[in-house]
Amino acid sequence: MKRRRFLRQLGGGALVAGVALGAGCGGQDKPADKSAASAGRAAFKPLNWKMVTTWPKNFPGLGTGANRLAELITQMSGGRITVKVYGARELVPPFEVFDAVSSGIAELGHGSAYYWKGKSEAAQFFSAVPFGLTADEMNAWLYHGGGMELWHETYAPFGLVPMAAGNTGVQMAGWFNREINTLEDLKGLKMRIPGLGGEVLARAGGLPVSLPGGELFTSLQSGAIDATEWVNPYNDLAFGLYKAAKYYYYPGWHEPGTTLECMVNKPAFDALPEELQIIVRNAARVANQDMLTEYIARNNQALQTLVNDHQVDVRKLPDTVLDRLRDLSDQVVAEVAEKDDLSRRVYESFRDFRTQVMQWSDISARAYLNARAG
Ligand code: CA
Repeated sequence: MKRRRFLRQLGGGALVAGVALGAGCGGQDKPADKSAASAGRAAFKPLNWKMVTTWPKNFPGLGTGANRLAELITQMSGGRITVKVYGARELVPPFEVFDAVSSGIAELGHGSAYYWKGKSEAAQFFSAVPFGLTADEMNAWLYHGGGMELWHETYAPFGLVPMAAGNTGVQMAGWFNREINTLEDLKGLKMRIPGLGGEVLARAGGLPVSLPGGELFTSLQSGAIDATEWVNPYNDLAFGLYKAAKYYYYPGWHEPGTTLECMVNKPAFDALPEELQIIVRNAARVANQDMLTEYIARNNQALQTLVNDHQVDVRKLPDTVLDRLRDLSDQVVAEVAEKDDLSRRVYESFRDFRTQVMQWSDISARAYLNARAG
């Protein structure tokens, strides 16, 4: 109970600060009123919110990340918002999450922005870009490089408020039933790979397919697809993908630090008292970091299980293949900028941030990792 009281006080303090700030900006001269805030909180009717997700219920990393965000909002709000999570197909199919939250069927959605390129081409930049930003760099762009403002602008026409709510870190290139030695080996390859990575594969002569996570194993096992990427060892082991493919390639050039999202129905969000808006935003921020650290903590153990218990053949994509994929990626990503004005502005922001952050990453993270490896 002590913790709950503390969180309430914290929330109340945030409200008072917010009111004071609003008064300063709006030119109103009424002082912040603590007792009014308390009275407002006492009169607040608790909300029951639904969260629909593109993931199977309780799926390691992604589904559990959605669960954790729901718990954080429920706990941090002191029960003023209780969030119930629905796995893919429990309330709506996985690829209808965007529309469900936009229309208010659910107040919250958990997914990843590249699933919605049919709604807005610019959305893809808020998820993963081939040869784009790592998790740390992506968070830097979103929180301190102008990315978040552009994401809000992208989702505003749909009545959605976006938040970063998880990150996978660098993914694996995927599961293949043929060796990849040259770019020619990608020709005619029918592979599940979403977003811009899929377009790069198409440029290399492959056949990209978009499938929700829950359909990967059967599609690969039945031969409906020749290859699939999913996430990383922690997730891929749980899916049993090793039973349906021979080779497990790395690195995930197509998803170097994929951001998961929480989208909030804008009318529902706008109707919240400011302190609850702050709580929802910060719950997402905690969930964003927490998912990344869970993956970092669990991936290698899962990788060792795949190699030692299931005899998975783990291979690095040849440098020559990665070089060609990087050239194709530069073309594909730049072409998104030509789709519409918003896509051009998002592309330019992302491109410029990537250029400058790479200079620092090269002499910090990369130099250190090289030195540590010896
Ligand atoms: Ca993936």
